[in-house]
Amino acid sequence: MSSSEGISRVPVRGTTKVVGVFGYPVKHSASPPMHNAAFTHLGMDWVYVPFEVAPENIGAAIAGVRAFGMAGVNVTVPLKEIIAAHLDGITERARIIGSVNTVFWEDGQLKGDSTDGPGFRAALREAGVDPTGRKVVVLGAGGSARAVVYALAEAGAQVIVANRNQERARALVEEFGFLGRIEAVPLAEESLRDALRDAAVLVNTTSVGMHPREDEIPPVPADALLPSLFVTDLIYNPAETRLLSLARSRGCRTQNGVEMLVQQGAVSFARWTGVEHPPADVMRTAVLAAIAARQ
Ligand code: NDP
Repeated sequence: MSSSEGISRVPVRGTTKVVGVFGYPVKHSASPPMHNAAFTHLGMDWVYVPFEVAPENIGAAIAGVRAFGMAGVNVTVPLKEIIAAHLDGITERARIIGSVNTVFWEDGQLKGDSTDGPGFRAALREAGVDPTGRKVVVLGAGGSARAVVYALAEAGAQVIVANRNQERARALVEEFGFLGRIEAVPLAEESLRDALRDAAVLVNTTSVGMHPREDEIPPVPADALLPSLFVTDLIYNPAETRLLSLARSRGCRTQNGVEMLVQQGAVSFARWTGVEHPPADVMRTAVLAAIAARQ
């Protein structure tokens, strides 16, 4: 990879295939360095470009994907929930989750999918954790929780959702209940102590503890964090949230959100390019460099 200060330089020619990310804002996205590092590593004539797209321009931006013959795009906050109307179709998974983060071509049609769930599963796999038949406690019921709960239920895990807004957690459980065993409990010490008994995995999908509110921690009782518990936090800034730090001090194995970010990117990359095994190591290194450059 030819690079300066962690920025990959991809030569662009008349033949270069273009993918990118639509977001608002998009300046701090780690996806361009991650995908461009993979293209460079594989010697592919592709480039990944960030585009700042205001929500009111999403239709025009998707028309641009078609007009420019782009090979696909990622979509991030706040466009994930509003883009579907501008596509030719979305996957069953994206429909149920209610969000699209990857736009791709299939049989001449522009389709949408959510790769957050598969990325989350792959991140667990990377850590040697199989949620099938296990009890998993999920903190949060927002957009990322929907992708995570869907992936866990699909994998045959027993899922317990704890959210500050209990109405939102109950609605999620009701909506996803047909997928398997899912229940809602309050986001409080006592209910989490009960929920974590016999649990194999604890996932934080809330933004509690994320920069700049790094001092915050979800109300997980320390004594419920047994060494057999795998604790994963979707947050990657800071690299170790207070929750992960507490879990590590209690002897739990932990993982931050970098791996999910890399793995969801790898799933999108594979879908656009047909490359079956994207270079996750190269992508991870690029993401870590991009995050470090932001600090
Ligand atoms: P949403 O805004 O959709 O959901 C936020 C969640 O956090 C809700 O459950 C909300 O609860 C909860 N929450 C926020 N503040 C508090 C608080 N003070 N106390 C208790 N609960 C709180 O966000 P997303 O789901 O999209 O993202 C959540 C986190 O996941 C972010 O940190 C994001 O960066 C990260 N993420 C990481 C990814 C990765 O690849 N690693 C992918 C996607 C997201 P309530 O419903 O009560 O408001």
